Amino acid sequence: MFPRLTVVAPAYNEGEGLRAFHLRTRAALDAIEGIEADILFVDDGSRDDTWAVMQSLVAADPQVGALKLARNFGKELALTAGLDAVDADAAVVIDADLQDPPELIAEFVARWREGFDVVYGTRLERDGESWLKRLTAAGFYRLMEQVSSTPVPRDTGDFRLLSRRALDALHGVRERHRFMKGLFAWVGFRQSAIGYHRDPRHAGTSKFNYWKLWNFAIEGITSFSTLPLRVATYAGGVAALAAFAYGLFIIGKTLLWGDEVAGYPSLMTVILFLGGLQLMALGVIGEYLGRLYMEAKQRPLYLIDTALKPAARIPSTVAAVPSPAAR
Ligand code: UDP
Ligand code: MG
Repeated sequence: MFPRLTVVAPAYNEGEGLRAFHLRTRAALDAIEGIEADILFVDDGSRDDTWAVMQSLVAADPQVGALKLARNFGKELALTAGLDAVDADAAVVIDADLQDPPELIAEFVARWREGFDVVYGTRLERDGESWLKRLTAAGFYRLMEQVSSTPVPRDTGDFRLLSRRALDALHGVRERHRFMKGLFAWVGFRQSAIGYHRDPRHAGTSKFNYWKLWNFAIEGITSFSTLPLRVATYAGGVAALAAFAYGLFIIGKTLLWGDEVAGYPSLMTVILFLGGLQLMALGVIGEYLGRLYMEAKQRPLYLIDTALKPAARIPSTVAAVPSPAAR
């Protein structure tokens, strides 16, 4: 028996390009010797014909499976749903828009055979992306490097291979606010990078506008750093100290020269001092609250509407849903 590999491709409104993706990925996987590979599509609540296309691909190719989520949960959770369903010896995460060249999977597999647990693709250049996106992406990765307790590799997307034990480790991470590339890095083990050229989209448009990317960046920073909370704490501390110094100055001035408006100096001092103290206290409380908030809402990460297993192998982790072969 050859080791098995599952390629997980989350897709949201990718109906237009999905067949081309399947064709090219299938060919790339068939070219890899000594491995049994299947593709697992995750339909992240698409509103176009993505699910219909997936169903026809499942029917046509016995080594294709598909998950349909109950609604759009976002790429990070779609990815999680896909990876949770993988029972193979390794998984590859790839975008369904052909921006990540499936031919690179052969190199991922080669590194995996050398004993690496996480093999990730690092973008050498970004074709078809505006200078603004490049600039903001570069800024984000640099900031992440500064504040994150887990080093997140630069210019690295989700395109990567994960070994069984990396998958198992990831399976234990059930936090709701998931910044996947941070979590992949957090897992650790033996990691290796392969540079590649990121192509423009094959079809359709990017699902990430700047507002989404901004929120994504905040997610990344808050998931892997409590520095912002600490900044609030220190800002409060500095404000309190400054207010104290100013208060001394006003008191001294009043003692020496008297004051023009009665009560003004003491009022000013107290307001500033208390304001600073309050900020500081809020920062401290926020530090705890932020952590509690993340953990408290024990909702399921995603909900699966329908699961179609590859006809080539039926039983496993996903709840019993008849495969197309059994229908
Ligand atoms: N995607 C998803 N759910 C979403 C948004 C995107 O599953 O809510 C998928 C999308 O179909 C694609 C991948 O995530 O396969 C990357 O998305 P996109 O190409 O829009 O991002 P970009 O490459 O522009 O960063
Ligand atoms: Mg893309």
